[in-house]
Amino acid sequence: MDTLAHTVTGGEAALPAIARPQLDLELRGIRKRYGDFIAVDGVSLKVAKGQFVCLLGPSGCGKTTSLRCIAGLEEPDDGDILIGGKEVTKDPPWERDIAMMFQDFALFPHMTVAKNVAFGLEMLKKPKAAIAERVQQVLKSFEIAALADRKPGSLSGGQRQRVALARAMITEPRILLLDEPIGALDYSLRETVMLELKLLQQRTGISFIWVTHDQNEAFSLGDLVVVMNHAKIEQQGAPEEILQRPATAFVASFVQGNNVFHGKVVQSADGVLKVDTPSGSFLVPGSGQIDSTVSFSVRAENITDMVGDRHLNRLTARCTAVEYFGSVRRHIFERPDGEILKYDQFGAQAARIAAGQVTELGWRPEDAVLHTGGAG
Ligand code: ATP
Repeated sequence: MDTLAHTVTGGEAALPAIARPQLDLELRGIRKRYGDFIAVDGVSLKVAKGQFVCLLGPSGCGKTTSLRCIAGLEEPDDGDILIGGKEVTKDPPWERDIAMMFQDFALFPHMTVAKNVAFGLEMLKKPKAAIAERVQQVLKSFEIAALADRKPGSLSGGQRQRVALARAMITEPRILLLDEPIGALDYSLRETVMLELKLLQQRTGISFIWVTHDQNEAFSLGDLVVVMNHAKIEQQGAPEEILQRPATAFVASFVQGNNVFHGKVVQSADGVLKVDTPSGSFLVPGSGQIDSTVSFSVRAENITDMVGDRHLNRLTARCTAVEYFGSVRRHIFERPDGEILKYDQFGAQAARIAAGQVTELGWRPEDAVLHTGGAG
């Protein structure tokens, strides 16, 4: 349809009569200040229908504040928020077609499980009989019917999590906002709960906006991963895109397994740059001005100690430690510039390098990724 529309009208600006897929959420330049401090700075985001979006970033980068703006618990100083195509920037939370689930679950301690779950429908003043019927259905589908008369204080972490989820989902919101929703669970439970939540999200078609600082959660769950740093979005895209093509030095260093280099462009020809760094000169695909400052990254699994003709980028470094991560053996080297260089070798291969050894390492130019979103 898009192709036809563009052919007929010649551009997106001239398309008002043609139906376009409705977005569940759109943020347009959201900015939130606390006094002089800017907690969210010009955040723009489009969430398609039924998407699983993970807001990922270090502590204090503005994830929760962004979520609270979407929820209506904070009012942004600038920018617009649209839910289901309707502007809701100044609407209260209960008029936004959203539900929220917090890390501590925020269950009402004095109410039974059934009362907690019924709460959203009672606030909407639905008829009593309809509420009772729906609560029974939801308790059953979340497998917590046997807990209906218990109080939250007597439940395990996993059970409280289910109750909180049932309470959030009972109104069938367009969007579910989740702030570190599995952060309070034991590690042993997390994987199972993650899978359950992903399946629930797919089954219901409700968009999930999931805040986390855990990249494993974000990359395994998200259709769209939004990486934030210092109140701004650094990069947004599919997990593979962020893993394979980090746009900034921050994203590359935040994502596990990258080696980041900073340097100056000294040559540029045929789509390849020669970059001088304190660890040596390296070839990187891309374009840039001579003398400009750039950064690039190379994934740890793309480095080799079996250096051959294709490995035009080389450096000599001392191995300081060898670590085992399941099927991967990670070698930590000290680079000439004093930074750490990570080199991963699959565990099935025989160990070739021991701590203390000085070795030549190399990688192919095409394995380096130039950061196009700023040298950082
Ligand atoms: P975390 O992962 O630690 O929860 P976050 O990315 O969710 O971090 P936010 O909670 O959004 O970060 O906070 C962003 C920044 O805004 C932080 O520096 C925080 O201290 C500040 N901040 C948040 N709420 C307020 C407030 N009510 N008043 C003043 N500063 C605030």
